[in-house]
Amino acid sequence: MEIKVSSSYIDVKYINLISTSLEKFKQNHTNLWNFRCPICGDSQKNQNKRRGFIYEKANKYFYRCHNCDYGTSFNKFLEKVNPSLHKEYITERYKEKQSEPTSIIPKFNFTPKFNHVLQGLSTIDSLSDKHPAKFYLRKRKIPEKYFNKLYYCTKFKEWTNKIIPNKFQSLKQDTPRLVIPFFDGDNNIIGYQGRSFDPKDQCKYITIKLQGVDNLIYGQERINNNKTQYCVEGPLDSLFLPNCLAIAGLNFKGLTVKNVIVLDNEKRNKQIKEALHKLIMTGYSVCIWPDNIKEKDINDMIMSGKTTGDIVDVIDNNTYSGLHADFQLSRWSKC
Ligand SMILES: [Zn+2]
Repeated sequence: MEIKVSSSYIDVKYINLISTSLEKFKQNHTNLWNFRCPICGDSQKNQNKRRGFIYEKANKYFYRCHNCDYGTSFNKFLEKVNPSLHKEYITERYKEKQSEPTSIIPKFNFTPKFNHVLQGLSTIDSLSDKHPAKFYLRKRKIPEKYFNKLYYCTKFKEWTNKIIPNKFQSLKQDTPRLVIPFFDGDNNIIGYQGRSFDPKDQCKYITIKLQGVDNLIYGQERINNNKTQYCVEGPLDSLFLPNCLAIAGLNFKGLTVKNVIVLDNEKRNKQIKEALHKLIMTGYSVCIWPDNIKEKDINDMIMSGKTTGDIVDVIDNNTYSGLHADFQLSRWSKC
């Protein structure tokens, strides 16, 4: 039987050695250390904030700051914050004939700690038929099979402040909102959107990204990677299409190029035009709505009587990439 000697003890030794020069250093548990980030200096307002973490993944050690988002191997971190100690570290590792730590930085799995946050909220499913939130979703023809994935919150800002202290300084106009949770592929909650029921509300959507989350993409938990994947602008719109993701705002970070991007039908919207152009240049296939489609988004198309099948047909027949897409984009935005 082959016995592998753990390489981690040198790292742990140097984590302890460097700890004296790290502000507010504390060991949270066996393989998690927390302190003020020496890269960005951490919060200047709050001297007690500690957002730098050293953590372990597969017997290797990494650094990440939740304030500046700097992330690297422990090796690189040590080199940056204490070059002379780093030299000793390298020598000691060399003596142990160890290879360099991997350059691929695994994701620090922060999210499970938030998985309880929806507890205490009511699913739309569980509300009485007369409840205005349920009434609203039915009016918008949102498929009822998703009513157990959507929540109702009476005081959105107050609730969010319990999850992220001081997220909202003021609780003025703290109205009820529909809560649309975002999950990763492992069903961990990564963020959520609060949608106002009041059409006059200035902030129709409030998007919350949970700590440690890089890419806020909606629908990841139910996507099939072997089938055509669509991606639309709004989470609620995505519920009408098969195998569909949604982004929050026009932020496409983390989306793979195999997604067919379906943005709203707003040819006068400069941001949408620019986003489409950028996506085409990056190699995405995009839907350029034909002139006979007048509705501005998928929900409106459903409201005006189109079926999911009708809409998928339109999308599939009007999806372009490369030069062809650029040509269609200029045609679309001119008429
Ligand atoms: Zn930092």
